[in-house]
Amino acid sequence: MKLETQVKNTLKKIKLSKKDKILVALSGGKDSTVTAYLLKKFGYNISGIHIDLKMGKYSKDCFNAVKKLCEDLEIKLYIYDVKKEMGSSMCYLRSAIQSKHKGTIKNCAICGVIKKWILNKEARKLKFDKIATGHNLDDEAQTILINVFKGSLQLSATSGPITKNTKDKKFISRIKPLFYILEDDIRTYVKKKKLPMHDEKCPCAIDSYRIQVRNFLEKLPGKDKKNIMKNFEKISHRIKRKNLKINYCEICGEPARGKICRKCSLVNL
Ligand code: SF4
Ligand SMILES: [Zn+2]
Repeated sequence: MKLETQVKNTLKKIKLSKKDKILVALSGGKDSTVTAYLLKKFGYNISGIHIDLKMGKYSKDCFNAVKKLCEDLEIKLYIYDVKKEMGSSMCYLRSAIQSKHKGTIKNCAICGVIKKWILNKEARKLKFDKIATGHNLDDEAQTILINVFKGSLQLSATSGPITKNTKDKKFISRIKPLFYILEDDIRTYVKKKKLPMHDEKCPCAIDSYRIQVRNFLEKLPGKDKKNIMKNFEKISHRIKRKNLKINYCEICGEPARGKICRKCSLVNL
């Protein structure tokens, strides 16, 4: 099936409305680029947001790719400057957090938690109904395997092309239009369409456990990766889910599973 048809089917499955105001998280990479391009092509009401992590030349190149994409698609772009808003670049924030936690938390885990926190807060402030991210089938298969290896498969039970069980006035639903699309197919598509994007790997992704799992999965044919997802979807409803009650963080007021949100437990403690 063609990539565009597959994405259309996913959007139909999650009942995405053309009236929804969608904020697309744009990193400058191929996945978020294709997400924005297709949502716009299919007539959805989108804007972009770019979190500028201020990680030197890499961040500058990402920013330039995002700017060009938004100009080409004629969509509004919001910029969140981590240094201006949080006082320091992601590199500095990360090393400060790592030294506090004695280096036990990996780069991507810290960066991922902070970016999620920013996206929810900004999307709500700007009155968007949904946040769209560029997660693809390879990312999701990696997450399932990571959760298998760590014995926390219940965390994957809530994953899907739209966030599940998280209805709350402060929580903005996240959608993943490329949830069923292989990374290789996205790579081919972005080249074919000559979309502006930055292809360099993040210089800070070096110590992530996810990279090890990705390297392992890369050796498998696409059909096996699809099977990981397909077979997991068949059994996921039987996995006992964690209590998904949403509280508000006592420090920042954002949605949290406990008394303190994950971002504040990293940054403030
Ligand atoms: S690869 Fe990791 S460190 Fe780099 S931007 Fe993504 S989450 Fe952050
Ligand atoms: Zn908080």
